[in-house]
Amino acid sequence: MSPHVVIVGGGFGGLYAARALRNAPVRVTVLDRRNHHVFQPLLYQVAMAALSAGDIASPIRWILRRQRNVQVLLADVTAIVPAERRLILADGEMDYDYLIVASGATHAYFGHDEWRRTAPGLKTLEDALDIRRRVLLAFERAERESDPDRRRALLTFVVIGGGPTGVEMAGALAEISRQSLARDFRHIDPTSARITLLEAGPSVLSTFPEPLRENARKDLERLGVTVRTGAAVTRVAPGRIEIGQDAIIAETVIWAAGVAASPLGATLGVPLDRAGRVLINPDLTIPGYTNVFVIGDLASLAGENGRSLPGVAQVAIQMGKHATRNIMRSIEQQPLRAFHYVDLGNMATIGRASAVADFGWLRLHGYIGWLAWLFVHILNLIGFRNRLVVLVQWAWSYFTYQRAIRLITGDSPPAA
Ligand SMILES: Cc1cc2nc3c(=O)[nH]c(=O)nc-3n(C[C@H](O)[C@H](O)[C@H](O)COP(=O)(O)OP(=O)(O)OC[C@H]3O[C@@H](n4cnc5c(N)ncnc54)[C@H](O)[C@@H]3O)c2cc1C
Repeated sequence: MSPHVVIVGGGFGGLYAARALRNAPVRVTVLDRRNHHVFQPLLYQVAMAALSAGDIASPIRWILRRQRNVQVLLADVTAIVPAERRLILADGEMDYDYLIVASGATHAYFGHDEWRRTAPGLKTLEDALDIRRRVLLAFERAERESDPDRRRALLTFVVIGGGPTGVEMAGALAEISRQSLARDFRHIDPTSARITLLEAGPSVLSTFPEPLRENARKDLERLGVTVRTGAAVTRVAPGRIEIGQDAIIAETVIWAAGVAASPLGATLGVPLDRAGRVLINPDLTIPGYTNVFVIGDLASLAGENGRSLPGVAQVAIQMGKHATRNIMRSIEQQPLRAFHYVDLGNMATIGRASAVADFGWLRLHGYIGWLAWLFVHILNLIGFRNRLVVLVQWAWSYFTYQRAIRLITGDSPPAA
C-alpha cells in the first residue's frame, strides 16, 4: 500500500502541501477542525464590513475536490505521539507514515487571558464577525445614548498592537467612521469617532524598513488615527484600557498584539521557543523523527539573517511545498534537503487606498503601494469566483464609499 501522509491543518501551509502531493504515489489525509480555508490577510475586511465571510473562505474539501489521492476530514487533533506514528483526535485516533503539522498560531495575551473577553483578536472568521458586530453595535448604541460621556466612550476605538494587522484594522476603522458611515446616523457624527493605535515598541510596522514605517504612521494620522508608540498596555478592563498611569475610556478594543503557537506543538515532546513554536531542523523535521515535519506559524526556524522566519503566508506556503519534496526524497531513500526561504516581500494596507510594500529591491507606498497590495491579494485568493467577487466588491466600495455588508448578526457582545 502507498505511504499515508497526514496533514494537520488546511491553512496556507497544509493546503499548499496537499496540492504539491497531487501527482505523488501517496495517500493524503488533510485534517482540520474547521471545514474551510481562510485567506487571513483579508480577515480585517470582513471585520470592517467590507467583505462577507464567504468572499475570503472556501471549503477545504471543495478546494481539493479534483485531487484523487486526497481525503479531507473534519477533525480536532488533540495530541501527536511520534514514537507510535499516531494522532489522537477529539473523537478517535489516526496512524500515519509521514506527518506534516501545520496547525498555525493563535492570539497571546501575555499571561492576561482575562483580557480576551474585552479585546478580541482576529484569527478566524468567527473573530472577524464578532469584531464587526462590536464595531457596528458601538455606533448603534451611541446613536441612542443621551449621556455625552457614554457616547464618547462608545465612539472611541482602541487597537492594541502596531504590526500589519493592527495598522490595517486602525486604518479601516478610520475609513468606516470617516467615510462609509459618515451620513448614516441622525444623532451622532461618526466622523467624530476617536481611533487610537497603541504600540509598545518605538514604531509601527517594526518589520518594515524605516522610511515605510514613517509613511505608514503619516498615512494613519492623515486618516485621523492617533498613533501612540512606546505605549505598553498594562490593563484591559471593560470600557477602560490602562497604559501605566494613563487610561483611555473606550467601549471597543481590538487585540492585534501577541501570537502564540498552536498548543499541538507542545504535545510532540520536542523543544519549543518562547512563543511555543517548535524548534525544527533545517529540513523541517523535528528532532529525532525524520517522518514528522512542522511548518508555517507553528515552526521556529532561523532564516539567513539569523532571525526566526516571520509568521507570514509565504513562509508557510514555501515550507509546505518543501516538506512534500522531502517526503518524496525520503520515500526514494534520498537524503533530506535544508529549507531556504525566498522572501517575496512584505505589505500592509492603510485605509482605503494607501499601502506600504517592501520587496527588498523596490519599496512602494501610497496609492501605488495599494495597487500592488490589491493585485497580490486578489491574485492569491483561492478560487476564481472569490477573486471576481472581491474585485467587484472592492471596486464598488472604492467608487461609492459604500460598505456592502453592514449587517449585525449573532449575539450582542457583553455589555460593559
Ligand atoms: C488577521 C491576519 C492577517 C494576516 N495578514 C497577512 C498578510 O497580509 N500577509 C501574510 O503573508 N501573512 C498574513 N498573515 C499571516 C498568515 O495568515 C499566516 O502566517 C499563515 O496563515 C500561516 O499558515 P499556517 O498554515 O501555518 O497556519 P494557518 O493558516 O493559521 O492554518 C492553520 C489551520 O490549522 C487548523 N487547526 C489548528 N489547530 C488544529 C487542531 N488541533 N486540529 C485540527 N486543525 C487545526 C486551523 O483550523 C487552520 O485551518 C495574517 C494573519 C492574520 C491572523
